[in-house]
Amino acid sequence: MPAERSIQIRARSLGRPGRHGRRAVADHTCRCHLPLDPPAEPHWWPSRDPEPDPDVRIVALHGETPTLLRDVRVTEGWHTEGVAATHPDATPPRPWPRIGRCWDGVEHPVVDVTARVPAPPRQPRQVGQTR
Ligand SMILES: [Zn+2]
Repeated sequence: MPAERSIQIRARSLGRPGRHGRRAVADHTCRCHLPLDPPAEPHWWPSRDPEPDPDVRIVALHGETPTLLRDVRVTEGWHTEGVAATHPDATPPRPWPRIGRCWDGVEHPVVDVTARVPAPPRQPRQVGQTR
């Protein structure tokens, strides 16, 4: 079916990252400087892959430094954290299919970084601690 085929090709090119710049396609690097090619390790494309198992608690865009930006699984979805996160305390969690995009709106593969990020101190800060 030629009509069906052309729709498929069109859908694929619409979803293709880096369509605004030839450079991005040529060297497979996004404008955000992260690689566009998926890594060899297990990864997910959140817009089309199902949410990973619950033991995957923290993900990051492939190539991103998890301490800078990461998405942490919470009850309501995925919460963006890290020193480069914008207003992390005021930003509500997002559903799985909506994570995985960089500031340029391009979807990147995400990888499991649960083991790479030290567990945050979850206890409330102790005020007035005595020695
Ligand atoms: Zn990007």
